[in-house]
Amino acid sequence: MPKLNENFLTLEKNYLFITIAEKINKFKTENPDKIDRIIRMGIGDVTLPIAPAVVAAVKKGADEMGVKETFKGYEDSGAGYDFLKQAVSGYYKGFGVEIDANEIRINDGAKSDCGNIVDIFDNSNVILLTDPVYPVYADSNKMSGRKIIYAASNEENNFSAMPDLDVACDIIYLCSPNNPTGSAYTAEQLKIWINYARKNNAIIIYDAAYEAFITDPDIPRSIFAIDGARECAIEMCSLSKTAGFTGMRCGYTVIPKELKAGDVPVSGIWGRRQGSKFNGVSYPVQCGAAAVFTDEGQMQIKKNIAYYQENAKIIAATMDKLGYKYTGGKNSPYIWFKCPNGMGSWEYFDYLLNELQVVGTPGEGFGENGKGWFRLTAFGDREKTEEAMIRLVNA
Ligand code: PLP
Repeated sequence: MPKLNENFLTLEKNYLFITIAEKINKFKTENPDKIDRIIRMGIGDVTLPIAPAVVAAVKKGADEMGVKETFKGYEDSGAGYDFLKQAVSGYYKGFGVEIDANEIRINDGAKSDCGNIVDIFDNSNVILLTDPVYPVYADSNKMSGRKIIYAASNEENNFSAMPDLDVACDIIYLCSPNNPTGSAYTAEQLKIWINYARKNNAIIIYDAAYEAFITDPDIPRSIFAIDGARECAIEMCSLSKTAGFTGMRCGYTVIPKELKAGDVPVSGIWGRRQGSKFNGVSYPVQCGAAAVFTDEGQMQIKKNIAYYQENAKIIAATMDKLGYKYTGGKNSPYIWFKCPNGMGSWEYFDYLLNELQVVGTPGEGFGENGKGWFRLTAFGDREKTEEAMIRLVNA
């Protein structure tokens, strides 16, 4: 009889968003007259369509696949076409960070790499996560039965957890700008994390999925903007929120040549893992991804990002008006706020859904320190975002 990996039995029964979907479905069944009033500001999915320059590039790529001379089968390396890796490298250069194209691997989104990177590290490693946390980091390590310790992100530190220098660990996951809290690390704070990692011979897995939302010049767009990061960090990024690729699927992971575990270069081991378990991203999608980094593509995606940033401002202004404590909204598409009147996260979720028909995400779903906090996203439609904020104020 096959034996299950029993670590799976230790996971929460439902992934956060499945629980939320179930609650919404129940509400719809019980309140068919209110279905059209529901405004979704929960799941962090984009709503604006793919930029025209990207669509044109995907179509061109698909056309090439239909012609014998330009048809492409398996990609040789599975690490991504050179034209895309060069484009990503050029993008980094745009904000002053030198990354060689050979240090980049293209993937089908940051979630896969965030989850799969655990494969190359031993299960005895101690994992340090910030709490609250993007659940993928916790789940993928729990699946391997690893010891996880937490650094608290809370009201006192503005939801920017810092390391306890007396506590050792092997692998650290950082996400900046952060999902769920919208907070973003300054260069000084990142330097402290890097020094801590190097003192412990630890590796930082740095998730920069929301870097495109940074507006403040003091907030680094990449951990590699900070000295010492090349010796201790892996960076994962995604076009999902940058360019609306949640349904297209493309991202990239950067592992510098200098990064070693003991004497072994990490990039070689990761390449070996990917070589056995991943066959690359489809050619048309990579063509579309490369178009994101062209001048035309950048102009178009920045327009979409500005739209979401304006939504974030509208939500943040409402928090100010209501006197709610919050982080994010600036440098981030997420607004993370304290539930009013001492309500619990799920209690406030139920209140918003049942009374105002606004759907958000209970902070508790992201960890202990999320209790009593709540996340709204700025990825929605402008009119609906405005309407939701009117409902909040009137209530
Ligand atoms: N990392 C963070 C912090 C995220 O919030 C998300 C998606 O919401 C991802 C990674 C996954 O992105 P992708 O769509 O590239 O898999």
